[in-house]
Amino acid sequence: MIQNSSESSILKTLKTVFGFQAFRPNQEAIIRNILEGRDVFAVMPTGGGKSLCYQLPATLMHGTAIVISPLISLMKDQVDAAVENGIDAAFMNSSMNADEVSDVYRMLQYNKIKLLYIAPERFAMPHFLERLKTTAVSLFAIDEAHCVSEWGHDFRPDYLGLSLIPKMFPDVPIAAFTATATQRVQEDIIQRIGLRRPHIVRASFNRPNLFYQVKAKSKVDSQILEFLRDHPGESGIIYRTTRDSVTETADFLKSKGIAALPYHAGLSAEERNRNQEAFNRDEAQVIVATIAFGMGIDKSNVRFVIHADLPKNIEGYYQETGRAGRDGEPAHCLLFFGKGDIPKIRYFINAITDDRERFIASEKLKQTVGFASHNVCRRKQLLGFFGEEYLHDNCGACDICSGTVEQIDITTDAQIIMSAISRTGQRFGIGHIIDIVTGADTKRIRELRHNEVKTYGAGKDRDKKYWRSIVDELIAQEALMQEGDPYPVLKITQKGSDILFGKEKITALRKEEVKPKAARDRGEAEGYDEALFERLRNVRKRMAEAQQLPPYIIFSDKTLHEICRRFPSTLSDMRKISGVGDAKLERYGGDFIREIGRYLDENHGMSIPKGDFDS
Ligand code: ADP
Ligand code: ZN
Repeated sequence: MIQNSSESSILKTLKTVFGFQAFRPNQEAIIRNILEGRDVFAVMPTGGGKSLCYQLPATLMHGTAIVISPLISLMKDQVDAAVENGIDAAFMNSSMNADEVSDVYRMLQYNKIKLLYIAPERFAMPHFLERLKTTAVSLFAIDEAHCVSEWGHDFRPDYLGLSLIPKMFPDVPIAAFTATATQRVQEDIIQRIGLRRPHIVRASFNRPNLFYQVKAKSKVDSQILEFLRDHPGESGIIYRTTRDSVTETADFLKSKGIAALPYHAGLSAEERNRNQEAFNRDEAQVIVATIAFGMGIDKSNVRFVIHADLPKNIEGYYQETGRAGRDGEPAHCLLFFGKGDIPKIRYFINAITDDRERFIASEKLKQTVGFASHNVCRRKQLLGFFGEEYLHDNCGACDICSGTVEQIDITTDAQIIMSAISRTGQRFGIGHIIDIVTGADTKRIRELRHNEVKTYGAGKDRDKKYWRSIVDELIAQEALMQEGDPYPVLKITQKGSDILFGKEKITALRKEEVKPKAARDRGEAEGYDEALFERLRNVRKRMAEAQQLPPYIIFSDKTLHEICRRFPSTLSDMRKISGVGDAKLERYGGDFIREIGRYLDENHGMSIPKGDFDS
């Protein structure tokens, strides 16, 4: 079954078909195992390069690789991308009519397809299975394999039918891929599909090209606009929690001249598709969306993901931010954290009737608040959440590590608040405690004689807003908790009591208004000629429009950036750029070289790095 699996042919295919110079972590081992006929189970983060792991062996093996993919919308993009690389690829799904399906069957019969994408439902169709039996199948690749597990977060009963594969095709290797699977889900997937002693890969979940930042939220729409002005033309996603806020933010940005489109479950399916497609094709710069958006987009040049509201849990946050920077180029993940978001989420949590579910949701909220407020490397926290230890002291790509946040000691102020709480018997809510501390002259204070409490007025040199922020900080850091409904009172936790009695200090992060360097500015080597990039981006867009393809399928941002660093002037120079394989070189190389030539002519005197292509 294996035609040629020698070392040189794998590397050669990587270069000629995909245009890449080197493998990403784990890719090579996975490919070798598949070529040797072994099953594979791989958990790799988004952007890890899973498609290449089955597309490359598919081109080397005899017969057709069957790729099972749950989303019809993704299939087309995947097939387009493969075809662009010169691979014979097709899909078969419910959106096609009988004639189109017969065409695919015919091509299968004559062994004209290297890669066939199908939805899992096909495995419930006896006719399909019969046809498949008479086809030379090289391998099965199962994408989003976690969908087979009820323990996963996206169980799809159709996936259970995939257990037929090892029974019907005992000699064909199966490779299952997912971006999310706990140990338990992993075992479940292996057992349910019936993988045979698979080669297992659990890749690191670190996404080194993502810069994580948390900023204090104030007027969030204006804050977003400011970010966009600093990142002109960059493509990105803005997440909001409610439909209304999606609409509001999208309208606001539009009124400021930004090409923004909304996406939420309240829009018609047609409008959602249209907006998603416009974003995919770089016609809309940003999409403002609820978390309903994201599954089913493969766009590799998402340069930022902004969370304008606090995410409900860390898993979601990781997944959503994970949509940035799939091409491996620097991308920015910005979370606007307002303490005011906490009660909103808590309100929904309190409405959960099942005790255990409510408890879990509440714990998850605590973790998210912790992530946003602790003075610990964001990357370390995220990875720790997935059970992965991050061993470096400084990740260099989060706000904490890059020193854009400053730590301030709030121990004394914390003691003032907690002393007021303690001296009034832990029986009052936030408003009243702040009234005591600021020395307010209210009827209630007089009635309860709280103006006689020792800390009455101890904090009158600061305003209520300030004290509110201290209380929020203490809740976020679990020095205080709120108890009781609907009138919660403040209670001091063990940690709080240690602070009150001077056994422990407490610090808060003061977010400096210093702008962190845009991710792309980090490191000299990553610079590129931005004016040329702008022009090449337009060339790419025109070509994409002519062929009705998303631009990133023609060349990724990463490829364009490299071109704008190295200024290739011949096809053989162009050939050395990452992401330029033989098929794309032939189709697009000339046009890009001409545009670079024109640009250099118009800017004569520009020095081009000489000898860059000698190697
Ligand atoms: P995943 O499915 O794991 O999220 P993809 O397969 O979509 O990731 O790959 C993400 C991006 O990385 C794509 O733009 C792809 O072309 C690119 N890529 C994959 N492998 C390599 C590699 N070895 N070198 C450079 N880029 C790669
Ligand atoms: Zn860090």
